[in-house]
Amino acid sequence: MIDVIRSLNDVINEFHLKHRRNIFLVMNTPTQLSDRLPENVPGPWFITDACIICGLCDELAPGIFRPLEDFSFNHVYHQPVNDEEEELAREAAESCPVEAICRE
Ligand code: SF4
Repeated sequence: MIDVIRSLNDVINEFHLKHRRNIFLVMNTPTQLSDRLPENVPGPWFITDACIICGLCDELAPGIFRPLEDFSFNHVYHQPVNDEEEELAREAAESCPVEAICRE
């Protein structure tokens, strides 16, 4: 019985080593797993329905991100138009805990 468990454990470890990179890539491509919210204003920056409305992005860049009226998600209500705003949006995207902020 112990031999069977050891063999099974070896198989699991081998699978994990072989596929870890693929699992990591899938988990870190939010646009493949979630949808762009239609409420985002047109433009390169958008928030997906992965948003958990933690409030971080509208705190970091209140001129770009804000909650929807029903507080279901945050969205982009103003597209960055200069380097300073681009940097704020990038900083918010890097800080988003669920990687819901994307740029085309
Ligand atoms: S930082 Fe991310 S999760 Fe938090 S409100 Fe903004 S988009 Fe949503």
